[in-house]
Amino acid sequence: MRNRPKLERGRIPTYTPSVGVVPICPHCGEEIDGVYQQQVAENLGKAYMWFCMECRKVLGVSHRKGFWMG
Ligand SMILES: [Zn+2]
Repeated sequence: MRNRPKLERGRIPTYTPSVGVVPICPHCGEEIDGVYQQQVAENLGKAYMWFCMECRKVLGVSHRKGFWMG
């Protein structure tokens, strides 16, 4: 069993570099070195889709206008 980081709600998000911490895909539970990025067509501009290198499930979509904004 791998130790999954607990999601601490209520904490203010920080941008501390994750040195020595390996990200784990929420879908397949595999440790991943990074994610694939793929540009997708979007009405109001370019959007990027991020997906797991192991299971290829989408982890998120980012728009150029702002993070997680539509
Ligand atoms: Zn995965």
